[in-house]
Order: sequence, then structure tokens, then C-alpha cells
Amino acid sequence: MTTLETPIEEIPRAMGLLVPKLKHLGIETVRDLLYHFPVRYQDFSTITPIRDVEPGENVVIQGVIQEIKTIRTPRRGMFLVQAAIEDETGGIEIVWFNQIYIRRQLPIGTRVNLAGKVMIKGTRMYLTSPMYEVVSEDGETTHTGRVVGIYPETRGITSKGIRYFLDRALNDLAPVEEYLPQAMLEKNDFPEIDTALRTVHFPASIEEGEHAQKRFDFEDLFFLQLYNLQEKLKLQETKATKITIEVDEIKKLLTTLPFELTPSQKQSLWEIIQEIGKGHPMNRLLQGDVGSGKTIVVALAAILAAEHGHQVVMMAPTEILARQHYKNLTRFFPRFEQGIALLTANETRVNYGNNLENDVKKKALTEEISAGKAKIIIGTHAVIQKNVEFKNLALVIIDEQHRFGVRQRAKLLQEQKIAPHLLSMSATPIPRTLNLTLFGDLDLSLITELPKNRKPIVTNVVDPKDRQQAYAFIRDQIKQGRQTFVVCPRIEEESSDEAEKAQQSSWNAFQKLEIKSIKKEYEKLSKTIFPDLTIEMLHGKMKPKEKEDIMERFSEGSINILVSTSVIEVGIDIPNASVMMVEGAERFGLAQLYQFRGRVGRGEHESYCLLFTDAHSKTTHNRLKSIAEAKNGLELAERDLKLRGPGEFLGDIQTGMPDLAMKALKYPHLVKSARDAAQEILTQDRTLKNHPKLKAHLTQFQSQVHWE
Ligand code: ADP
Ligand code: MG
Repeated sequence: MTTLETPIEEIPRAMGLLVPKLKHLGIETVRDLLYHFPVRYQDFSTITPIRDVEPGENVVIQGVIQEIKTIRTPRRGMFLVQAAIEDETGGIEIVWFNQIYIRRQLPIGTRVNLAGKVMIKGTRMYLTSPMYEVVSEDGETTHTGRVVGIYPETRGITSKGIRYFLDRALNDLAPVEEYLPQAMLEKNDFPEIDTALRTVHFPASIEEGEHAQKRFDFEDLFFLQLYNLQEKLKLQETKATKITIEVDEIKKLLTTLPFELTPSQKQSLWEIIQEIGKGHPMNRLLQGDVGSGKTIVVALAAILAAEHGHQVVMMAPTEILARQHYKNLTRFFPRFEQGIALLTANETRVNYGNNLENDVKKKALTEEISAGKAKIIIGTHAVIQKNVEFKNLALVIIDEQHRFGVRQRAKLLQEQKIAPHLLSMSATPIPRTLNLTLFGDLDLSLITELPKNRKPIVTNVVDPKDRQQAYAFIRDQIKQGRQTFVVCPRIEEESSDEAEKAQQSSWNAFQKLEIKSIKKEYEKLSKTIFPDLTIEMLHGKMKPKEKEDIMERFSEGSINILVSTSVIEVGIDIPNASVMMVEGAERFGLAQLYQFRGRVGRGEHESYCLLFTDAHSKTTHNRLKSIAEAKNGLELAERDLKLRGPGEFLGDIQTGMPDLAMKALKYPHLVKSARDAAQEILTQDRTLKNHPKLKAHLTQFQSQVHWE
């Protein structure tokens, strides 16, 4: 008998030939194999006559191979197998990429079942890389006549191969023991693990297969919530410095500001202050749109904590942002005398009030920090984590990051002996369901409105025919001393080769396409449209130093136009920039466009967002125009999510946990039941000592989830 732990090469009567291929997919044991789920199911019993297939459909057809050959693509040298197949009603072409062995398996005259997607090129329809199964003389097939799982087909292993292996493994598998509480399964009508593992691969109907998958989705979300809530409980039992701040102190400090806080800024500040006064480490995320004023909220908390003698560190992802924070803090709190320090690779400064700016040597400064003299330390993650020892670090603030890595926190804990309070800031609007899934261990403070004095940004959708006029407008703004951002989307995949590649779309390939696109835009603007202006470009593949230099020059005003990919340096505040021009605007998500727009309108100048689009459709225009009316980014994010689906939406936010996030978005109510279930268990059994199986499983789950 095999168990989940049995290595795949020991599965009885299984073909050894496939073993290396499965290993290539990371499948080592029966467990790995069984948890390699179908991406979808195909009802193999319904065969579509070829005459009736439609582009875009997933179909199963049965016919006889009329022609089959291997060809090599001229440009990329990829091997294709091309075939033609006919049934009584018609014929269609087939293409397989890089699977030349198929040619030998399907000689002319073979009767075959094919399952795949119908594509169209010009007027010709074809099936691309379909799954195939030879139909034997007597019409018998092992995989047809039933619902089958379709697996992601990679590296020469087909769904068929995987099913073959699964069949052998399941035949011989010792019953798998259930670890979820019976009541939990009953409540959701989920199958037990042993049944679920079988039906997920060989269901009697598509619904049954999907329901079995749902059990696993629920399970993942449940363990994630269990983990999240346990982390939260752990923090409640951990000691942290109590930072006690009186309401009067806050009020007094607020009167020194040049503006009044918005209601949700006040609320967020109050939530933070209350929590750091509790004696347990805070773990909080401050979310708010670009320009909603997160910095001042955390700065106030920092100053208040420092006035009570505690050290505070504020980490930014780039040097420019660190410097920006340093400048803001010293500007907002000129009378603060406890030392505000800046520590980056190229700069070390410290300010002890009276507007004194001291250039100090790094060594001297780190000594001052270790001695507890400088209280607020601002810098980049890299520099601070490598160089600094604190005397009494009580609060850690992290800008433009959703979460402080669990590992980083553990490290801090070890070094500082006491858990500091953690506060992250992020401008990415994330729907509630996702927040709970991705950041369920964090508390949330939300800034929901922009400061009152903000002038609305004039937002226009620019038709191709108005392009010249828009350029003239930008030129005029620049003449008046303003600056312009230009953002462009990645270029469309042109050939099917590229489309094929983009399907596997690694982040790298994605970036390459983006860069290709901004280079084109840069050439166009700097050679043809604005040859007399200073234009630079910025993209993710540039060295940090190059990026910093360009941002620095842009921020000083010596660059007129900055052409950049969608990954514009986050958080940067350029009050002199008054135009945000977006090329191919229809290809961005609304939430993303909203974020781009937030880069302008930060100073006293009237600002503009010009959304260029070649799309003529009214719907596109209306969709783009809706940005002008949106109240906040969150509202748009939620709308966007509905419009475009989680795949593309998540592509934008680049989270580290796409799988779980997808599940959360697909089944929002599962998130809630998973959270409730986790809560219920932990209330009765905080350490899971009465649930040893759950506990063991949680440990296993944790080792699989990567947070950073
Ligand atoms: P973000 O949330 O994107 O980090 P910032 O903290 O950079 O935004 O704030 C954007 C600008 O708004 C800053 O120049 C800041 O001084 C200003 N600001 C913040 N809060 C207010 C307010 N309540 N009233 C007026 N201006 C504010
Ligand atoms: Mg910011």
C-alpha cells in the first residue's frame, strides 16, 4: 500500500518513464501528485461535430488524422506539430507547440479524440495544443465517456500522463485520515479528505469535482485564518513597550500643524495611539489613497512616542523617499529637539531642532543612535537593518509596504529583545475580502478621504484626433514651468509566438514588454514631438542608482517629462508636476489609473490627467471617465475587480500570494466561513492542544506559504 509520503517512483505498476517529468514539475511524492489539481474539468462524453465548433470554445472532437507534419518556426526556431483532422461533418487544423513526439503517436488514419480550445487566425480555425487520446478499434477509451480533469500541461507531461499516474496511485492508496473536525465538514457539506482526494481527480460530474476542490480551497483559507488569528493572539501575549500618550499632548501637537487633519486621519492616529499604549506589540496597516496624507499620521505618532523618550525608526523603500520623509518631518516639527536622523547609503544627517541641519559621519550618527540620543531614525531598509543598533526602539514604521516580513520581525525581536510596535503604510486599495485573506493578522486603519484643500484634478479622455491639441497643452504647461509624467502600458503581443510566451507570462517577460513600450514612447516624444525638451525614462530594469538619479533630477525640476512604466516609483511627491499623461489608458485597471492620477495635484498648481486611448467604444470612454467621478481608490478597486476579474486585478497589485488571493476573490463567503471556523476553534482551544491533527496540519501549511 502506498501512502501520501510514498515517492512517485515507488507507485506500483506506474510507468517509470514519466517519473523524471513529474519531478520536473516538483512532484516527488504521492501527496504532491494528488495535490496537483485539475485546472478545470472536461465532460469528455459530449463530442462536438467539427462543423459546429466556434472560436473561443473548449471542445472535444473526434475524427481521423488526415495529415500530420513537424515544422519549425522561422523566427524562434520553435517546433510545431501541425495536423489536419476530419469527421463526417468537416475538418479542422491542429497545432501543438514543442511536442514533436505527437507526430509519431498519431499517424495518418488514426481515430483520435481531441480536447482543447478553438482559436482563429484570419478566417481559419484551429485547435491549439489539445489533449488527445487515440480511440481504439472497438471505440473503447480509458479517459472518455466520463468527466476528466485537465491539468496544466507543461514540460511534455500531458493530462493523460498525469491521470494515468493518479489512477495507479489512488488504486493502491491507504485511506487518508481526516484532520478537519467533523462538524466543520458537515456544516459546509464537504467530502472527507479521502473521498475528496479521489473525486477531485475522477469526479462523476463536473459539479462533484468542483465541490471537492472547494473543500481544499476552504481548507487553505481556514488554515490561513487559523495562522493569522494565532499570530494575533500570540502578539496579545507578547510584551512591548507601553507608550502612554495623553489626549492633551496630541491636541497640542496638532495645533502646530499648518493644516487640520481629516476625520479619518484623526481616527487612524487615535487607533495607533491607543494601541501602542497597551503593552502588546501593535501590528497595523495604514491604508489610504495616494495623497491622502499617511505620512503626517505616522509622523505624529513618531514624534509623540519620541517625546516620551522612545526611539522610532521609519523605513522607506528608496533613498528618495527616505529623504522626502526626513525633509517633511524636520519641516513639520521644527521645534522637535530629540533628533531626527537620516540614514541612507549616500547621506547621513541629523537635526536636533532650531532648524539646524547637521551633516555627520555615519559612524558618529550610529553611535548617537545606539546611545539613544537621536530618537527618530529615517532611512532605507537596507542601511538601517545592516548598520544600526538601537537603545530603546519602540516603534517601527514601514512605508509603501503591505507588511513587514515575518522573518524581519523575528530578527528584530531577537536583536532588540522586546517586540517593537509595527506600523506599515500602503497606498494600494485592496477590497475587504482580500485584506482579510492577505493581511488577516494585521489590524487596519483606513484613511478614506483626501484633504479638503485638494483641487480636483481635471481628468480628460483624449481621442486620437485630439492628440496634437493635448501635446500643445502639455507644451504650454511646461512653458509655465510645470512638469509631466507619461505612463504607458506594455505593448500588445504581436505574434502568436509572443502570445504563447506571454501566457506563461513571467514577471520578467512582462517587464521586458513594458520596457520595449516605453522606449518606443520615449523615442517618439524626444525625437518627434518635443525634441527641444528634456525627457528621460524610468523603468524597473534600471539600476537603483540610475533610478534615484533620474528621480532626483525630476524632483529638482531639471527634467521636463518623465516617461515611465506603470511601476513608477511609489510615494514620490513632486508638487511641481501638473500633468499625468497615460498612453493606452484602456489597458490599465481603473484603480491603477486612479493611482497614476494621484501623482499630480499635490501642489498649488491646477493639475490634469490626460487619458489617451485609441479605443473608440463608448463603454471604454465611460469606463475611463468614471475615474473623474470616483470618490476613492477603494471604490474603484472593487468595481475594477468585478469588471476585470481577479486575475488581472491581482496582476496589478502584485501580491506575493496569488493563489490564496484568487480563492478569496472567487469565493468571498468562504473567507468568512473560514475565518469564523478558525475563530471558533481558537476561542475554545487557543494552542490547539485538543486538536493535534489540526496543529500538525497547520505547521505543514505554514511551511508552504511564503509571505515575503
Ligand atoms: P500619502 O498618503 O500618499 O503618503 P502624503 O503623506 O505624502 O500622502 O501627503 C500628501 C500631501 O498632503 C503632503 O504634502 C501633506 O503635507 C499633505 N497633507 C496631509 N494631510 C493633510 C491635511 N489634512 N490637509 C492638508 N494637507 C495635508
Ligand atoms: Mg507616501
